[in-house]
Amino acid sequence: MPTLVSHPDEVKVISRRFGQGAAQLDRYLELDGYKAAQMAIDNGPQWVIDTMKASGLRGRGGAGFPTGLKWSFVPKVSEKPKYVLVNGDESEPGTCKDHVIFLHDPHAVIEGTLIAGLAIGAKTGFIYLRGEYRYLLKIVEKAVADCYAKGILGKNIFGREGVDFDIITQTGAGAYEVGEESALMESLEGKRGVPRIKPPFPAVVGLYGGPTVINNAETIASAPHILLMGGEAYAKLGSERNGGTRLFGISGMVERPGVYELPMGYSMKKAIYDVAGGVKGGKKLKAVVPGGSSCPVLLPDELEVGLDFDQMAKAGTMLGSGGIVVLDETVSIVEFALRTIKFYQHESCGWCIPCREGTDWIKKSMQRFYDGGGSTKDISNMQYLAENMLGRTFCPLGDAAAMPMIAFFKKFRPEFEAYLEGKRTAKHFITTDELVGVAH
Ligand code: SF4
Repeated sequence: MPTLVSHPDEVKVISRRFGQGAAQLDRYLELDGYKAAQMAIDNGPQWVIDTMKASGLRGRGGAGFPTGLKWSFVPKVSEKPKYVLVNGDESEPGTCKDHVIFLHDPHAVIEGTLIAGLAIGAKTGFIYLRGEYRYLLKIVEKAVADCYAKGILGKNIFGREGVDFDIITQTGAGAYEVGEESALMESLEGKRGVPRIKPPFPAVVGLYGGPTVINNAETIASAPHILLMGGEAYAKLGSERNGGTRLFGISGMVERPGVYELPMGYSMKKAIYDVAGGVKGGKKLKAVVPGGSSCPVLLPDELEVGLDFDQMAKAGTMLGSGGIVVLDETVSIVEFALRTIKFYQHESCGWCIPCREGTDWIKKSMQRFYDGGGSTKDISNMQYLAENMLGRTFCPLGDAAAMPMIAFFKKFRPEFEAYLEGKRTAKHFITTDELVGVAH
């Protein structure tokens, strides 16, 4: 197994069991595993929800919605069964944090699912893994099977009469769009993975029409740690309105790529220069994709910002999925922009016109531009197209495609213009090794 990375500034909460064999149930139990679930049974649903609210945990998938509040929206009484759905469809380029949780600590996801189920009164949870993570499915399925064998899942769990909970695992077929919560439910129900109209929201009408809590895998895996340490103690680790810690995948052209657990609000600049060791080979920094490919790019002089949802929004970008991708001076932004829009055009589900047509037009224009058939007017036209997609699409994928493109055209217009005059940065697509070559 590859070496785990580490840095003294890390605050290990969710990653504290990484590298300790915690994928094995006996080892997980030795490391306080499933104590939090039993605390949840003993103290009841309201205690769990209050603790989660006090923790200030906000959804780690990217939206940043307060988790405890989300759980509290589920009606206490429902004619239809309630469900917990774990979104492990991690597909945002530059992001590989859920991957390490499933690899090193799958029981934390199972325990978190169980805790969410106890909090909302659900008896079934689903763990949905991204299609390309099929090899992780074996690890998760074994962990689930071990829990059934030990009486941690199934009927009368932990020997408690009437406390039942089942977990079902499922993989997708490799569609980015299915990371959107309503498309995820469609996919899980065996239908085409396109989003649903909201309202009603999943907390009221979700999976199979029943009230459903949908959380990102990291969010869910944080729950056991929060119950063990207390909501207030967890909140204090982070910044204002952004409780706790989170996993950041720092990749691209840095000396020490890896997934690091840092307090919310930690300096972006320090994360790149101290934690990840700075730009590889002493080259100059050109730009940073701060939270996965959908987040507007930051320039070197914009890095004095804390890594939390609010500070990143103030800086005109997003914390997103925590995938920080560092680009050095050799990267051609024209090529990088082309690759970005190609990804979103390919992943557009085609359900709504602004996204289906907008991503296709921009991709075709970008390709022509890149191939040498562009003009200055094209730069403005592509920016105009992207700006007109923004906020006009059925689901957030349209915005995810538009936002980074707008930032590329605005912040790197001189590079696009120079490209037309034949002044081109050396061809350097970021390689798969650089993007995914994190150390675990
Ligand atoms: Fe599909 Fe794109 Fe519309 Fe989302 S925004 S529904 S991905 S076409």
